[in-house]
Amino acid sequence: AKASPARGLSFYHAEMDAAERYRRRMKDDLRIALAEGQFHLDCQVQVDLRSGETCGHEMLLRWNHPERGPIPPAEFIPLAEESGLILPIGDWVLREACALAVANPQLGKVAVNLSAVQFSQPDLPRQVEHALASSGLPAERLELEITESMLMQDRSRTLPLLERIKALGVRVAMDDFGTGYSSLGTLRSFPFDKIKLDRSFMAELDTSPQAVGILRAVIGIGRALRIPVLAEGVETQSQLEHLRAEGCDEVQGYLFGRPIPVPGQERAPSEGGTM
Ligand code: C2E
Ligand code: CA
Ligand code: CA
Ligand code: CA
Repeated sequence: AKASPARGLSFYHAEMDAAERYRRRMKDDLRIALAEGQFHLDCQVQVDLRSGETCGHEMLLRWNHPERGPIPPAEFIPLAEESGLILPIGDWVLREACALAVANPQLGKVAVNLSAVQFSQPDLPRQVEHALASSGLPAERLELEITESMLMQDRSRTLPLLERIKALGVRVAMDDFGTGYSSLGTLRSFPFDKIKLDRSFMAELDTSPQAVGILRAVIGIGRALRIPVLAEGVETQSQLEHLRAEGCDEVQGYLFGRPIPVPGQERAPSEGGTM
């Protein structure tokens, strides 16, 4: 016999409750994580394709949950955004990245991801300025990665915000290029210093001739705008050959190095929850 609609509904509600309870619990745990210093940053190398030299590192947030183990950022960052905790967490990331860069000159330039929620705060440029000043990191060693969707909402607000950040001397990279829409317009009207081609293109490079054409076009856009193009998610030698042949400027991916804790880090982990 078929389950009655009422029974189906209550079953559905029970499932919802479990999922919702989990999310609430994780949000509480995030607050504790910040206060108790459970976060750290991994670094992933970025390489200049022509010289083979390191040009910088992307700093990626990691959370080792005391009972559940490592939680992927794709899982906990949306929860941090919903609860507003992304603001103090994002500030911690900025400060920690700057402090690590100062203590580890071999990192070169450090690239930090910003959340859309951070980017909606008029206070952001002041926070960036603070992170630089309190660490002593020269502004040109900091790069902020932002995605297109963060700029689309209200240009009269986002363009001045981006310009205030750039005025500090910090670089700005467009992250995940090719996953959004009207990318060309955004690139033309916002002062980016780098294009990061989304890693979904790498997966297609080996199998689809169209992907090679798109790669060529994106590199052409970078040339026209005089900004370097970095390919993300490079995993295979054959992907690398395509990138070399098309004249891509920089690469990042497992082929060159996975995200790892900062090697030889001598700094004690900084405390969170003080801001
Ligand atoms: P993203 O900014 O696109 O970061 C690159 C992601 O690609 C990282 O995943 C990295 O581990 C992964 N990756 C690097 N090379 C390869 C490769 O060769 N193959 C494959 N398959 N993957 C590769 P991760 O660390 O899990 O981070 C996921 C996303 O979480 C990031 O995507 C970023 O959007 C967000 N995220 C990470 N750290 C932060 C942070 O501090 N703040 C904010 N707001 N978001 C962050
Ligand atoms: Ca990124
Ligand atoms: Ca990316
Ligand atoms: Ca992303």
